[in-house]
Amino acid sequence: MRGYTMVKYAFITGASRGIGAAIAEELAKNGYHLYLTCKNSADLLCRLAAKLEETYSISCTCFVGDISDYHFVSECFSSIQRLDVLINNAGISYVGLLSEMDVTDWNQVIGTNLSSAFYTSKLAIPLMLREKSGKIINISSMNAYTPLTKIPAYSGAKAAISNFTQWMAVHFADVGIRVNAIAPGYIMTDMMKTVPEDLLKKFAGLTMLGRLGQPEEIAKAALFLASDDASYVTGHVLSVNGGMRL
Ligand code: NDP
Repeated sequence: MRGYTMVKYAFITGASRGIGAAIAEELAKNGYHLYLTCKNSADLLCRLAAKLEETYSISCTCFVGDISDYHFVSECFSSIQRLDVLINNAGISYVGLLSEMDVTDWNQVIGTNLSSAFYTSKLAIPLMLREKSGKIINISSMNAYTPLTKIPAYSGAKAAISNFTQWMAVHFADVGIRVNAIAPGYIMTDMMKTVPEDLLKKFAGLTMLGRLGQPEEIAKAALFLASDDASYVTGHVLSVNGGMRL
């Protein structure tokens, strides 16, 4: 008898670099066809898509725009017929005290890290309902639980994402949609580029494993949560942080 491989589709926000790009590669390696988004790095995203298509014989569709803009998100979804996995990964941080932060900065951080997950989920869930199956994975942060003084909007958005994850898990469990989050620790991506070397060393020293994480280590966790190996996992926020002791 010939083997039957089910075609699976995943939508990943913020896939041009860092954790999102690593998740895209991990899912491509495992046969997923991909919808990838970013805001500014169109070249990077196109190059990644071309590499994944060639290496893993899958298809990639790229969307470039602001994920905190509902009109952009609905344009992306207007061409999508089927979706198995949604990964809400796009995120930005703003480092500064509350008193230094203006309203535009606040709205950008909340819009990119939190509202975007509502927009994509709102449009993804009807597609998943058709299949009576779906997986949503939100990228939260350990900062949801240990708010640092200088990232007020980011900590708040990530705490809300963890809570939203659990809310969705409860409300969509009976229709076959599993919803989980990953709370990464310090992962070596562009987001960490502005952190001084001595502080990075200090962060590494706060982990049981004594090092910072790599984007691929978050991607492996995302693949697990997307797969049927996690069939009994929902409403969970998985810490992937090297055993961070804060
Ligand atoms: P990067 O800064 O490396 O990449 C961010 C990605 O998000 C890029 O693809 C970027 O696109 C995209 N993006 C940013 N803003 C928007 C927007 N408005 N619309 C669409 N896309 C956007 O970040 P990381 O890979 O480090 O982080 C990924 C996720 O992991 C984030 O949610 C972050 O909060 C979370 N996280 C990261 C940690 C870390 O230590 N790195 C720790 C904990 C959580 P473009 O290239 O076009 O700008």
